[in-house]
Amino acid sequence: MGTARLTIDLNAIAANWQRLDRLSRCETGATVKADCYGLGAAQVARKLAQTGARAFFVALAEEGAAIRQALGNGPDIYVYSGHMPNDAQTIRNLGLIPLINSAEQLARHLESLPGHPFGIQLDSGMNRLGMEPREWAAVREIALQAGPRLIMSHLASADEPDHLMNTQQADEFRAMTEGCAAPRSLAATGGLLLGQAFHFDLTRPGIGLYGGAPFQDAYPVVQLALPVIQTREVEPGEAVGYNGTWIAGRPTRLATVAAGYADGILRSLSNRATLWAGDAPCPVVGRVSMDLLTVDVTHLAEVPETLELLGAHQGVDDLARNAGTIGYEILTSLGHRYRRRYEGGVGQ
Ligand SMILES: *Cc1c(COP(=O)(O)O)cnc(C)c1O
Repeated sequence: MGTARLTIDLNAIAANWQRLDRLSRCETGATVKADCYGLGAAQVARKLAQTGARAFFVALAEEGAAIRQALGNGPDIYVYSGHMPNDAQTIRNLGLIPLINSAEQLARHLESLPGHPFGIQLDSGMNRLGMEPREWAAVREIALQAGPRLIMSHLASADEPDHLMNTQQADEFRAMTEGCAAPRSLAATGGLLLGQAFHFDLTRPGIGLYGGAPFQDAYPVVQLALPVIQTREVEPGEAVGYNGTWIAGRPTRLATVAAGYADGILRSLSNRATLWAGDAPCPVVGRVSMDLLTVDVTHLAEVPETLELLGAHQGVDDLARNAGTIGYEILTSLGHRYRRRYEGGVGQ
């Protein structure tokens, strides 16, 4: 079969959630935006719910549909982008909880869905989403009277434990929420690992669940095996791939493998990635093209049917480092052509 296989270990995701839950001195939620970081909203969210998560977070109201369908009516589903124009029906029908980002959103929510649950998102210094202190002060009384289910903010540099912003943001968040009865949330994966001062009432890790940094103790979640389509011998001086960016310096055996940048194997990995034949590393040579890449397998006694890009020898962060990016981008780029296999799935 010419299709690459992506294996997603749901038991590893469950174990990662449990580890983070043990570190959280409060309730532990789960961020499941972007199709659970590309790994499959339905399967992953159901597994997390079975493992004990009760609060789920998506980026957009539309993303709540797949999560609600997977989870049924019990769990809370919060929406980071808040209440956008024309979202009222989606929010009501799916029972979503928008995290209100501005006075304008607050007015929209209270007018279009009076009595419907909402949360508040505050900006404690990242300058991306949420109300800044002055805007919050202006609407705080109205908002608190309506009874927010959660008040949250987000850390900009939680993956750098010594960054001054971390304590500054925690202090700012504490000051902005003083006297509020609603539960509070500040920490994603990075903040959760910074310790109890950042936990408040609810943590909402994402990347750590899916096996990525900064959660160093995470179990690896994904395995990606790419089929070898063809092998060939090239002579010294022959060029390989688009624009001939790699030239054989010796007689070389090449394997052409069925995945490329259309499958999320970033073009920046050209001449920079390694695939694995069991324990033997095989360097990518030449450009990654849309559907294919080429690998030096000269040193293998036998070329296997598939070569591994992600797995025991190389995790998402290792690959990200070679591509000049972060594990988040590797995961969310994983293509839709892969045959996906879920281990440890939960029935409907
Ligand atoms: C994506 C996101 C999270 C989860 O972050 P991780 O670093 O993946 O744990 C939490 N909160 C907000 C506001 C986010 O945008």
